[in-house]
This record gives sequence, C-alpha cells and structure tokens, in this order.
Amino acid sequence: MKILFVASEAVPFVKTGGLADVVGALAPVLAKEGHDVRVLIPDFSQIPREYSEKMSHVCDFEIQLGWRRQYCGIEQIEMNGVTWYFMDNKYYFARPYIYGMGGDEYERFGFFCRGALNMLPLVDFQPDVIHCHDWQSGMIPALLKIQYAHLPFYAGIRTVFTIHNLQYQGIFGIREVQDVLGLGDSLWTEDKLECFGCANFMKAALVYTDLITTVSPSYAEEIQTAYYGERLDGLLRARKADLKGVLNGIDMEGYNPQTDELIAENFSVDHLEGKAACKKQLQEELGLDVRDDVPVIGMVGRLSNQKGLDLVDYVIADIMRQDVQMVVLGMGEGRYFNLFSWAEGEYKGRIAARFTMDHALAHKIYAGADIFLMPSQFEPCGLSQMIAMRYGTIPIVRETGGLRDTVLSYNEFTGEGNGFTFFNYNAHDMLHVIERSVGYYKNRRDIWATLQQRGMTGDYSWTHSAGEYMKLYESLFEEKKPADEPEQPEKNPVVIEFEE
Ligand code: ADP
Repeated sequence: MKILFVASEAVPFVKTGGLADVVGALAPVLAKEGHDVRVLIPDFSQIPREYSEKMSHVCDFEIQLGWRRQYCGIEQIEMNGVTWYFMDNKYYFARPYIYGMGGDEYERFGFFCRGALNMLPLVDFQPDVIHCHDWQSGMIPALLKIQYAHLPFYAGIRTVFTIHNLQYQGIFGIREVQDVLGLGDSLWTEDKLECFGCANFMKAALVYTDLITTVSPSYAEEIQTAYYGERLDGLLRARKADLKGVLNGIDMEGYNPQTDELIAENFSVDHLEGKAACKKQLQEELGLDVRDDVPVIGMVGRLSNQKGLDLVDYVIADIMRQDVQMVVLGMGEGRYFNLFSWAEGEYKGRIAARFTMDHALAHKIYAGADIFLMPSQFEPCGLSQMIAMRYGTIPIVRETGGLRDTVLSYNEFTGEGNGFTFFNYNAHDMLHVIERSVGYYKNRRDIWATLQQRGMTGDYSWTHSAGEYMKLYESLFEEKKPADEPEQPEKNPVVIEFEE
C-alpha cells in the first residue's frame, strides 16, 4: 500500500511531545512490512543540522493563498525505509518557535495542508491513504473532498485522521481561513466547516475524513462524552461507527535499558544492579542527597494542567512529608515553573526540577527513578508511563485514557497489576496512592520486584498496533457490508496479561 503521513512533528527531526514519537516510530514499522510509506512535516529551522545537511531538493512550486503566492519547496531524506519529505518555506517555518500562540497559525498550517495536496503529482506519489495527525493537518481531508476529489489523480485517495490530543483544535476566524484557503460561504454551516462561530481545523477533519482514530481505546470512548469531548463530543458520537482507538507503542530500541547509551549503566530484568547506578548518577547530577534507600519519584512531560500538576501542587507538602525525593523535567506553564522552582529551594537535596527539553536527562530519569508519577486529568495515550515501565520504574497514574489501558493497579488479593492507579481527579486520592506505593517500596521489596519485572517484560512494541492500522487502511477499500448484517462486537485489543 502507498501511505502518506502528514504531521507537524516527527522524531528524530523535531519534537515537542508524543505525536513526534508516534509518527517517527510507526512509519518505519509500516515500511518494514513492505509498504511504500512517506512522511511529510514542515521544514522547521529547529531540525538539527545533521539532518538538514542530508536533505536533497525534490521540487518547488508556488501556492496560491488568497491573493498571495508563496514559495513551497519539498526536500527529502531516505531513512529507515521511509521517504521523509520536508516542506520548506522560510517565512512560515524558519521561526524561533514551532507553534505560535494564535497569530498566523491558520496561514502557516493552511499553507501546509494545501502544499501537502499540491505536491503529490509533482513528487510523483499517488498515495492510497493520506494519514493525517492532529489539527495541523486537519484541513487536508476537507480540502481533498471539497476541492480535489473531482480530479482523477486525487479521486481514489482515502483519508484517516488521528486525534493525538482533542484539546488542541486549531480554532480561528472564519474570514481568515476563507481568505487563505478559498472555501466558499456555503461550506460554513454546522454540519460542515463552521464550529461555534469559528473555523476549526480539527472539526473539519472529523467531518470530512473517511476514518477517525485516536491513540487508545479508552480515549476513543471518553471523547464521546461531554467531560472529555472538548465540545466535539456530539460530532464524535455521530461518527462513532468510523471512530477507533488504537493504542500507541513506543520505540522499543530507542528505549531499551540494555543498550541505552544515555544512561549511567545498562541493566535488564535479570540484572537490575545497573538501575542502582543510574539512580546514583541521577541524584548526583541533579544535586539530590545520594541515598539508595529513598524512593525517587520522577515526572517527565509538558507542564500543563492536562498532566494533573494541580493535584501535585495541592498536596506537595504532604508528599514531601514522607521520606521521598522528586525529580521533574518539563516545559510549559509559568504556574508550574514557579511551583517546582519554589519546591526545589524549599526541599533542598530532595526535589530537583529542570525546565528544558532534554532528551538525555529524560532517559536518565526513566532509568534512575523508582516511581513515575502521571496523574493526568486526561491522557489520549501517554508514552511516558510505558517508557518508565520498560526501565523498571513503577507508574502511578490516574485511570484515564491510555493510562487506564496500560497500567493495572496492584491488587493485593489477586496479585495482579503492574503499577498503582487512582480513579477520581482528587489530590488526596493521588496522595493516598503515593503513600501506598512508598509502603511497598520500603516494606515489600518482593512485590516491588514483581511489579518491576512485569513492567520490564511488557510488550509496548508497535507490532500489534501497526497491524491494526493496516486493517483500517484496507477496510477503506472494502465493499461496505449490507446494513442488515449485524456487526460483531470487537474485543478490546488491550490485554494486560501477567505470567505468574
Ligand atoms: P504528550 O504527547 O501529551 O506531551 P506523551 O506522554 O504522549 O505526552 O509523550 C511525551 C513525550 O515527550 C515522551 O517521550 C517524553 O519523554 C517526552 N518529553 C516531554 N517533555 C520532555 C522534556 N522536557 N524533555 C525531554 N523529553 C520530554
């Protein structure tokens, strides 16, 4: 099959969050199975030189955006069996930021969507499926159906749209988007492009795409409710039959404690000694008291409300009343920068916080921490909890979205579980679970070791999910079943199995 991924970020070129990990890992897996997989991302100036130097020029053309004409260059790298395309326009993509706050984002990513469709005949690639990721590529399914589908080259192309985070929708003024993309007035009704008086790239995709996926089965259910639906739950319920949750995997090679070169000492499930060395190095590097008997609680992720940090804020004094250390790595809201900066001074030698994007430090925390805390308010999938488990670090998560699908709370009666969880979005529920886990860390090392072993031997690879995506792509070309044939209910693909 010929598949084009369109996204705003992909590892190893440019990354702000899990989206980049997913695009960067899934494309090569599909390519390995013999498909012609190509990926398009913007040629951001943040892409490291080692890659930009390797790019070769494929073609360039002009894009009409309202009354303006803009240069659009396509650069290319072949890597891991995938053709990676980079859309070049210095005015839009050579800025000191990847995502701006409002401003002309509609024009930057309107340009990107238009360019993605216009480049196809010029790079001589006619995909069977365009797989779009998040709002930045959201106008592609709409433009394709509205403006391109009558052209023979485009007529057979199907689209899949994956929601990585429903909270970010790309909401702009209708006039501005019309000005850039030339979508006539009759399209701005609530069953088409209009969304609560605005233009909304995510909604445009959800209306026009052939299939919708999101990154975990639980999140696929949750976003059909008002609490998680971000005002699009009605539309998602209406498209329920075309909506599916496919759990993300992680890059099992990139995150492998046995071979990871970024950590102090390698370790494996049978030889955990190296993990102690990683903990010691983490404590030394971050200026924490070097002690092997104190549990280190790690947090890596965007410092946003989504990640449940207000719960941590609420009970940080209670957490620190126990004999624990905390390590935080993240960038984001000022409120949490202030919180953890203050905490670092208040609990000297016990809390360390770093506010940068630091890939190497992230690995050191996954490897060196004992507990990984992720109390998210909502979590489409979450990769960090899986990475943590791979490094023998026990997750504490809230039961939501992908966290619910990957972490099962330790049950002292049945012995099942691979971490600790709580359900209500409540700071004291979280605190209680932290205390519970610290209790096991200190007093029941046998159980702790079992949980570590389960986490480290879990299968977080892309194999299963890549197969799910292929099935979905293929389903786009199958004849629709007659309506009277009952659908077989499908089993939840996420199965947490434990061997005793
Ligand atoms: P989200 O996509 O919501 O940001 P995920 O858990 O899906 O959250 O993915 C986050 C990814 O980004 C993980 O690979 C995590 O390690 C990484 N990450 C987040 N913040 C940082 C940071 N400050 N430094 C290094 N890596 C980070």
